[in-house]
Amino acid sequence: MASATSNESVHAIKDVPAEVLAAVEKKALHVPSLDELSAVLQHALQANFANASATPVEVCPDLTAAPYHLAAPGINGSPRLADVGGVPYLIPTANRNVLFDLQEVATKVDLPGAFFIGAGAGSWKYIGTNCELMPNVHLGASNNLTTTAIVAHDKCELRPYDTTQVGVLCNVLASEGVRGPVVHVKASVRTGPKDFLSCLHQAIVSRYGQQGVGLGGVFVIREGKAKIHVMPDFSPVPLCSDAEVDQWLKFYEMQSPLVCLSTMVSGDLGLDLRLTHTHCFSNHGEGGHYHYDTTPEVVEYEGYLVPAEHIYRIGRPQPCMSPVHGPAN
Ligand SMILES: [Zn+2]
Repeated sequence: MASATSNESVHAIKDVPAEVLAAVEKKALHVPSLDELSAVLQHALQANFANASATPVEVCPDLTAAPYHLAAPGINGSPRLADVGGVPYLIPTANRNVLFDLQEVATKVDLPGAFFIGAGAGSWKYIGTNCELMPNVHLGASNNLTTTAIVAHDKCELRPYDTTQVGVLCNVLASEGVRGPVVHVKASVRTGPKDFLSCLHQAIVSRYGQQGVGLGGVFVIREGKAKIHVMPDFSPVPLCSDAEVDQWLKFYEMQSPLVCLSTMVSGDLGLDLRLTHTHCFSNHGEGGHYHYDTTPEVVEYEGYLVPAEHIYRIGRPQPCMSPVHGPAN
């Protein structure tokens, strides 16, 4: 959830200058060997799951097939992360003028035609309301399987999203969408306090920290349920505390199978990065922002991760805009 905010910032982030939204910063990431990375991840998972493994594989399976349903066969080929926009554009008050487009992001990350997966906010302008976004689009193949989750009559509604517009923030893995070497991760029956993603993320934070390792990928929750939130439309009043943000968000317990699109980095790297972000979609009308699994005794995860070579910070909110730095939405 978001960190506490202050009332004096409420009117401080209107009319974000175009040059701020267009700004691009880039850093090279450390790319460990898949053998080393697998060992780091497996060690962390085994501390929290009865069954867990992380193994390097030469070629990932075709991820367009069930249960992953991605828009490209793989997550390899110049893998890179992009952290676009940020929470200060959303709270305490939303900036409706802040919109991004994955076509432009592809150019900015030096990968025209990129395949994007990840987590973000959808465009209120396109959908008609603030919403969650599950980017899943291969621009080079004109294949857009992106979905959005909205709150309608207090219920989650998952919809196709046939545009590349993005709202106030997104965290994406960009690649050429080809199959190649990845880490295959599996875990089931959670015995510890940390869920799958917390395990993976904290493992790279502990091992690599400011050395800067970034991962992106897809995993499926095959069994069990998960706590997910969906953003409703923008709050009519400023959200000035974590409690107010939680009151505004809609929380649901959603049923597997859920396909989760995830990015994570081991440190901030001086770029004001969001360290981890995961959204999920399904074939049964549910999706949104993943928090954790709620059925540890039966939960089962499986997925594929690739280490990114670079991270790009696009449209980074300026420090004067808001004191908010916490993860939300
Ligand atoms: Zn989110």
